[in-house]
Order: sequence, then C-alpha cells, then structure tokens
Amino acid sequence: MARPNQARINLSALRNNLALVRQLAPRARVMAVVKANAYGHGALTIARELDTRVDALAVACIEEAQELRDGQVNSPILLLEGLFEPAELATAAARNYWVTVDNEQQLAWLEKARLPRPIRCLLKIDTGMHRLGVAPAEAGAFYRRLKACKSVSDDVVLTTHFASADDTGSDLTTTQLALFEATCQDLPGERSAANSAGVLAWPASHYDWVRPGYMLFGNSPLTGDHPNAAALEPVMTLVSAVISLRAVQPGETVGYGANWTATRSSRIATVCIGYGDGYPRLAPNGTPVLVNGQRAPLAGRVSMDMITVDVTDLADVSIGDEVILWGAGLAAAEIAQCADTIGYELTTRMTARTPRVVVTR
Ligand SMILES: *Cc1c(COP(=O)(O)O)cnc(C)c1O
Repeated sequence: MARPNQARINLSALRNNLALVRQLAPRARVMAVVKANAYGHGALTIARELDTRVDALAVACIEEAQELRDGQVNSPILLLEGLFEPAELATAAARNYWVTVDNEQQLAWLEKARLPRPIRCLLKIDTGMHRLGVAPAEAGAFYRRLKACKSVSDDVVLTTHFASADDTGSDLTTTQLALFEATCQDLPGERSAANSAGVLAWPASHYDWVRPGYMLFGNSPLTGDHPNAAALEPVMTLVSAVISLRAVQPGETVGYGANWTATRSSRIATVCIGYGDGYPRLAPNGTPVLVNGQRAPLAGRVSMDMITVDVTDLADVSIGDEVILWGAGLAAAEIAQCADTIGYELTTRMTARTPRVVVTR
C-alpha cells in the first residue's frame, strides 16, 4: 500500500462557500482570491472550478497568474501586489491581468508603457493597514493620472484592505471604512474593500467587488463563532493512517525529547504524517486528531514523518485506520490555535509531498 496521506479537496464544499459569499453580498461581484496555490489547496484545481462561477480571480503575482492562464482559466486575474517590473505590463495587457497600483513607481511604469491594449487597474488606498497603498491625501492625484494614462482602461477601481476585520468589534475597521468613503467621495468608480472577514461581518464594506479567499476554503477568519460563518464547509480534509500501535507503561516516555510521559498504562498509535508533510511541528501534546472519527490527543513531539497519538480511551484501533488531522469534523482553526498560528498558515504550508486529491463530497 502507498503512503496513505491525502489532502482531500471537496469541490462541492467550495461551491457551497461561494454560494454563501453571494448570499451575504448579493449586490457585489466576486473576485476569488487564490494566491499561494489557493491557500495550499491547488491553484489550478480551485481556479478551474471557480472560473465560470466568479467575476474575477486574484493572485499575488504574475507567476501565479501565468499558471492559471496556461491552464485554460479564462477569468480576469488581478495581481494583488501589482507589478514588480515594467516588463510584466505587456503580458498583463495580452492576458487580461488586472493590476493593483499602490505606489509612484508602478504608476510611472504605466505612464511610460506603450501597450496594444489598456489594462484595468485598482488604485490601492492605505486607510490604516500601513503595508501597501497610497496615502489618502495622494489618492486624488494618483486617480487623475491613472485616468489620463493611455495604458490604463477607464474603469479604475478604488480599493483598500482591512487590518482587523476579523475582530467584529474593531474600531480600526470602522475608521478605515470612514476614511475610504471620505477619500473616494469625489472619485467616481467601482470600489472594493472586503476580504473574507468583511464579507462575513462588515456588510458596509461590500461595495462593488468583494475579495474573499479564506472563507471560500470553508474557514472563518472571525475571532469567535458568528452565525454568518455557520454554513461554511471545509474544502480540505487532511488524512493519514495508523501505521503502528504499542503499549506504553506508566513512567515511560514517547517521542523526541521524551516530552510526553505515560501516567497510566497507555496505547499509542503512530500516524505517518509529520512536519515534512505540512503538519505543524509546534502542535503540542493534547492537540486533537480524529481516529476513526473520534477525537484523540497528540502524545509526544511531532516528527518529520510521523506523529504519536494517545488512543487509550478509544476502542478497536487497528493499523491502517484513518486519521483526520483537520478538515471535516475538525476545524483547521482549532488545530491552528493549538499550534499558535492561524488556519491560513496550516493549509498554505502543506508541502508538495502530500497529494491533493479531488473528491466530490
Ligand atoms: C489575501 C487577500 C485577500 C483575501 O483575504 P482573506 O482573508 O483570505 O479573505 C483580499 N484582499 C487582499 C488585498 C489580499 O491580499
């Protein structure tokens, strides 16, 4: 038997989550964010499924866009970080990539370019994230230069990005929204602000285009439960299997560093997945996994290729039994919390060693 690890990718869950986006933001168009290999889910698989169902796709950079276009994905594709060099402009024009413009250099490249076709641009305004974007006071001047630029199509979109929308009581989000409104007041054009947290919890941020990523994969970025997130279904279920079972006596230890000690006669299952496959090494003793659908805690440090699980309280565990690390029945966010990170990082850092396998349910 082959090593049994799989990241099962459930495309009906993806469609369900997109339907939730449409339901929550019925007047907005949807730009689905599939950067970083669709958050580890497999960019082409996800983009092909979404291609005819969304209004545009978004990736970080042109290399990610090329993979999708070469794979016969036809939607417009926004480059969220914009251009890294002016040579990218001809490709963007030829292949219908939209570009974020967030600084003077990118604008100057557009003004110098002679393109066969104008490019759609999103002018990014820094309303408080302080990472990318032009200052609100400069937005009008940038906007007018974009409008005058022959390489830029007339339908400039005004955009911004939230720093704390995952906190539903965030004052910063309220402030960012107000600053965005004030900045855009005299600048006609479509607007875009909402990431997944905006879609879920900030209806005033929906505007003309929403930009969900994380929620499409069935995860909620919101801190705490939220009714709007209840219908999300995880797209990725990471599975492995038990490859060894043993009895451990009280006082004996398990794994590297001997950091788990049996306090009773225990049964330890070894599961063939580790940090070399994308399971987080920082997951501590007690982190849950599902063995045959039942929760059991990690016992011992995560190795490169294996983890060890205390299955003393489970009946009938055998070699070959299925183990779910996260996904259906066990939210990636819960595992992430144990490992002091976020679900975004868990799925994004899944290694190529773990095959992505499409399932229909
Ligand atoms: C990644 C990204 C998104 C999507 O964010 P999620 O929290 O995954 O929904 C939206 N907009 C921009 C600018 C991004 O970089």
